[in-house]
Amino acid sequence: MSVFDQITERGHERVCFHHDPATGLKAIIAVHNTILGNALGGTRRWYYQNEADALYDVLRLSQGMTYKSAGAGLPMGGAKSLIMLPKPGHKPTEAEARAMGRFVDTFGGVYIAAEDVGVNTQFVDWMALETRHVMGGEKVSTGGDPSPHTAQGVVNAMKAALKFLGRKVAFDGLHIAIQGVGNVGYNVSRILISGGARITVADINQGNLDRAVKDLKVDVVSPDDILTVDCDILSPCALGGVVDGHVADNLRCEILCPGANNVLDDPDEDGVILKSRGVLYVPDFIANAGGVVHLAGLYLGYSKQQLAAKIAEIEATSLQVLRDAENTTSTHAAAVALAERRIAEGARAKGIADPRSARGSHAHGTSTEELVAG
Ligand code: NAD
Repeated sequence: MSVFDQITERGHERVCFHHDPATGLKAIIAVHNTILGNALGGTRRWYYQNEADALYDVLRLSQGMTYKSAGAGLPMGGAKSLIMLPKPGHKPTEAEARAMGRFVDTFGGVYIAAEDVGVNTQFVDWMALETRHVMGGEKVSTGGDPSPHTAQGVVNAMKAALKFLGRKVAFDGLHIAIQGVGNVGYNVSRILISGGARITVADINQGNLDRAVKDLKVDVVSPDDILTVDCDILSPCALGGVVDGHVADNLRCEILCPGANNVLDDPDEDGVILKSRGVLYVPDFIANAGGVVHLAGLYLGYSKQQLAAKIAEIEATSLQVLRDAENTTSTHAAAVALAERRIAEGARAKGIADPRSARGSHAHGTSTEELVAG
């Protein structure tokens, strides 16, 4: 499919390719939708086999950010950027980050960068030496690591699921399985343990696993077994695409509440399978919006109280989506519909044409994507 066909189909406003001759940086910024406002989305550093894969990734990621921000009720649009690494594991440098910061700056604030895969607070601070349109640093920009806020949002979404099922909204005595105890999974485990839950985890990174066992006294199973642990709640906090039709058929949890993005391989089909199997799925981009709420909220000038209220709101939004889904094919479809409604309302309030209405409801066949801090 041609580049224009791809961006037209998904409804992107602007996609820019950039090469910095001095550092060799090759990067893409994709702004999907700014109807609700400027767009915050992380910068991913990743090695792609080819440009087509990189473009596909950034287009899906940026579209996912539109839904995540709208679903969270933020006056923000959706965008994302990526740096195409010359080889896997290529080490980040200040020069690379500053070159990326200059690229981000050319968007004049329409796009605001943040952490994503391969980008930490140091990298963000290096970018911030060249642009003020970046969030999530510790020294030059503000916000810090968003993952504790993402984790709090995921836990709030779990509460909504318990409430929806008519169960006690508390974690004591519950068994919760967590795939991946990196930034998000560790923090989800920490919050749930303090609430009295029994936690079983798996991770392919021994260091992260050891930290969780040592600090939190979690139980461990092999990465091959974590998705089929018999538990109350399963929370994939590692990668996207981990629940396909086969996995969905074999889950042994009552609630599926992800920290990871794009956990469903095919959200439309898998969402329907989950519903038919009686697994209550809290859509990823609703459950894991805490990180973007935190960074975008700071960017928008929210007070501490406003930030806390907005992350608490993830519980009510999740509950609304779960209830809406009783009349639709899946909770994923209900979440997309909620985000679409908010964008359409935003367009009407601003008196601007919503280009998506001209193209039809393309969004229902799309998914949110991996790693978002942003
Ligand atoms: P991370 O890299 O810190 O943690 C991911 C962990 O998953 C790592 O410990 C990794 O070893 C583990 N892992 C990878 N493959 C695995 C497998 N097959 N089985 C078990 N463990 C595996 O990343 P993170 O920041 O914690 O993000 C986790 C997920 O949450 C990502 O998918 C990301 O898209 C999503 N997310 C993160 C944030 C955030 O604030 N960091 C916000 C929204 C969404």
